[in-house]
Amino acid sequence: MIGTTPDNIPDNLFRVLFEKSPGSLLMKANPPDFTIVAASDSYLRVNSLSRENVLGKGFFDVYKKDIDESDDLLARKIFNHIIRTGEKVDVPVYRFDIFEPGADVKTLHYWSFSNNPISSGNSREVSYILSTFTDITAEVKAKEAAQESEHRLLLAAEATGMAFWELTISDNAFSYSQQMAEIFGHPPGTAITLDHIRAQVHPDDMENIVIKAFQKALIEGSYFYEVRVYWPDESLHWIRTKGTVQYNKNKEPVRMLGTIVDITESKRDEIRKNDFIAMASHELKTPLTSLKAYLQLMETKLSGTTDPFVKTAVVKSGNQVNKMTALIHGFLDLSRIEPGKLKLIRTTFDICALIDEVLTESRVLSNTHSLRLESTGELTVNADRAKIGQVISNLVNNAIKYSPRGSYVILQCKANDGDVVVSVTDEGIGIKPKDQEKIFQRFYRAEEDEYRNISGFGIGLYLSSEIIQQHKGKIWVKSTEGEGSTFYFSLPVV
Ligand code: ADP
Repeated sequence: MIGTTPDNIPDNLFRVLFEKSPGSLLMKANPPDFTIVAASDSYLRVNSLSRENVLGKGFFDVYKKDIDESDDLLARKIFNHIIRTGEKVDVPVYRFDIFEPGADVKTLHYWSFSNNPISSGNSREVSYILSTFTDITAEVKAKEAAQESEHRLLLAAEATGMAFWELTISDNAFSYSQQMAEIFGHPPGTAITLDHIRAQVHPDDMENIVIKAFQKALIEGSYFYEVRVYWPDESLHWIRTKGTVQYNKNKEPVRMLGTIVDITESKRDEIRKNDFIAMASHELKTPLTSLKAYLQLMETKLSGTTDPFVKTAVVKSGNQVNKMTALIHGFLDLSRIEPGKLKLIRTTFDICALIDEVLTESRVLSNTHSLRLESTGELTVNADRAKIGQVISNLVNNAIKYSPRGSYVILQCKANDGDVVVSVTDEGIGIKPKDQEKIFQRFYRAEEDEYRNISGFGIGLYLSSEIIQQHKGKIWVKSTEGEGSTFYFSLPVV
């Protein structure tokens, strides 16, 4: 309880102090009147009242017209409670609209009230009630705006079928927005746990993707994966989750938050597209094979001809057929690259010998460039020989495609820190830094004018990078525009 005026402060000074204090009103504890005995200037200003109009009047007489019945009752309850118990009562948020200076209409305002009991002398009896208030309109509005924007975000998320989730790392506490249950095939509003969700993830994806992504996220700070999940009705769906990790000041991961969406439809489209590519390429292979056989026959039959046009026409047709065959094989591989479809057949072999073979083959197909293997010796790897051969061949073909006739294409293979590193260097047009990050993506091609005449679908490097990643190796490029490029890949040595 707050005591009364200390004897050593003159009454006058005390009155002035009170009148200058922010938002204060002093009332007698004399129900039912609650006579106002002092009011601060700011209190009067906010309420558009004059001191003469309030002093000596009952609190409820002054506010009768401004507050409605329920508030009137509430205020009486509060004041009576203070008198009865001697306890202070706070009203954290109270709406009371006021006239701003010079305005004709009231504007919305929120206040926070604190009502304190005051007793005279040593008596424990409450003689006065001191009511102080603070204008909290700005805070309330800011909070409302934040709630509103959160609400809008939730609505937008709901409309796009997105769910939010949050995971506390220390105790695995998991919270999520409403949409989550539906994404995992449960009726809306079903309570689900992290264990439920984990149990629904396809076991292969759990082991190969989720666990790894989680571990990576704790270190790198971002979380991303696409996995298959089984709904309770046993149908298979796809989800994509993206998240971010929050750390404490000791850089320890504390919380993970993110979004999750059902991507089944787009995945099914992708699978359908892949199946189509696989089918079409497969169908094209047969007529191409017989076309090639006929061309080879023709070449043999025409070996004695002296007509230069016929001779070159047959050779060029053969080259074009070879190009088409390579493209079709590329498409077939593309469709096989989907999870689980690309199977590696590993053997142990010398990679330098493989490079030699690929170069011999490339020289037969095109004699426009000088192809050279600069390293000697043997380097053994345990890998899928045909697929690694395909990677080397892709890189060599690109080096030829993107560099001028007559230039060098140099290959090297070296042992480096437990890895074998193969490099293919050309003296070609090079690659802009902005494209260097993207050329390993599916269907990506640099869109410069000089590339327009060079045919391709942007799948060679994508396939190469998928093959190398399946082998747990790395693939990368260093390039200077106008000077040339070096593509590297590394494989763990046996
Ligand atoms: P494609 O050659 O069929 O377009 P790739 O996946 O093999 O597809 O290559 C993707 C892109 O990378 C190419 O379109 C080209 O822009 C660029 N690129 C690849 N190799 C080289 C190279 N040796 N020199 C310059 N650019 C290259």
